[in-house]
Amino acid sequence: MPELDGRVAIVTGSARGIGLEIARELTDAGASVAIVDLDEAEAARASTGLGGAERGYACNVSDPEACERMLAEVEEDLGSPYILVNNAGITRDNLLLRLGDDDWRRVLDVNLSGAFYLTRRVARGMMKRREGRIINIASVVGLTGNRGQANYAASKAGLIGLTKSVAQELASRGVLVNAVAPGFIQTEMTAALGEETRSALLDRIPLGRMGTPADVAGVVRFLAGPLASYVTGQVIVVDGGMVM
Ligand code: NAP
Repeated sequence: MPELDGRVAIVTGSARGIGLEIARELTDAGASVAIVDLDEAEAARASTGLGGAERGYACNVSDPEACERMLAEVEEDLGSPYILVNNAGITRDNLLLRLGDDDWRRVLDVNLSGAFYLTRRVARGMMKRREGRIINIASVVGLTGNRGQANYAASKAGLIGLTKSVAQELASRGVLVNAVAPGFIQTEMTAALGEETRSALLDRIPLGRMGTPADVAGVVRFLAGPLASYVTGQVIVVDGGMVM
């Protein structure tokens, strides 16, 4: 029997990119996966593409009321979540002096506050049931910082702080909370990078290639499953050795 048989998982930002691959991996492990994204039709398309439920769930994770509505719908349709993957994330890059208030706020709202709203809401049920896995998709730049990404790096460093704090609060109730910090992964988010930046980044990766969404999704599957039952409060870096 696959290791997550009968489990319900919620993956945010999973209509495409890394989130979609995480949803695929968790489906493969036997979980019923709620595909959550900004656009319900896109989410439904992704879900049926994985052979899962015919519906996806529309939710802007930066809106606490939308998070509440989406979670109530998922619970009604699929049952209580055992796994929450906070994957939805955006970039609005600019050098500090040109970084506007709106680009600062928007990135923090989606990448950090969104994870907080959903984590707070699912934690109560998980604590009661004395089981659950929360996995936050951070980034290596949350550990190292990055020129032109003060907002994004701050949001991902914040997510790591959230992960470790909540891991400490929920450990005694059997709920494990970890973060995955991807490096340079091939998705639409990185497709816009120029050739020069791409080649400079590749030079810094000992494994000599960009990561794939599947490289990240495999680690999420591990953290969601029984093999990770003694792992909490960790940040697992998936970056081909870039920041060791
Ligand atoms: P992506 O291709 O841009 O996909 C992000 C997904 O999130 C999209 O489906 C997007 O929907 C959705 N989304 C955006 N804002 C949302 C919101 N407010 N509420 C709900 N869903 C929202 O990004 P990715 O590269 O797969 O990245 C996934 C995660 O990994 C992010 O947290 C990112 O920061 C992190 N990460 C990525 C890399 C990388 O190299 N790619 C490296 C480190 C960390 P729309 O399509 O409608 O916009």
